[in-house]
Amino acid sequence: MTQPASALPCPFEKRFPSQLVRDDGFFMSLAYNQAIDAWRQDEVPIGAVVVREGEIIGAAHNLRDSSRDPTAHAEILAITQAAHAIGDWRLNEATLYVTKEPCPMCSGAMLMARLGRVVFAVSDPKMGCLGGATDLNTLPRVNHRCEITRGVLERECLELIQAYFKLKRTEE
Ligand SMILES: [Zn+2]
Repeated sequence: MTQPASALPCPFEKRFPSQLVRDDGFFMSLAYNQAIDAWRQDEVPIGAVVVREGEIIGAAHNLRDSSRDPTAHAEILAITQAAHAIGDWRLNEATLYVTKEPCPMCSGAMLMARLGRVVFAVSDPKMGCLGGATDLNTLPRVNHRCEITRGVLERECLELIQAYFKLKRTEE
């Protein structure tokens, strides 16, 4: 893929997890690889995959800048793909893996999609809405709750995001 002229070279390599162990670490590694792809397109490196019955039904990364669309977050794009893939907006049987705790918009979309489970790597005390800044998943009258797992591949995903912003700052 050709990179935009402004792209900062990504010093991180993609992960190659064993195909034999399809655990949370495996699927988060695929989300991480999506985040690497984001970086290579000069986007904030956040990636997401949606899995159902062991099958990947959505995989995307942040595209906010290139699409000039404030809603083009990895999670929204992956949820839309997943719903199209199964022909149903209800994703009760699916698990979404994302490298950073979802923002208010994405956390809301997860509840609206009735996602069965959400796994994220890095907590976000500023904008995270699954426990970081606030927790939409515990709204008292919401009729759906996602099962949440935090901290999978946290160090790797945090390093990636922090390195990106550090480079961005020195570029300016
Ligand atoms: Zn978001």
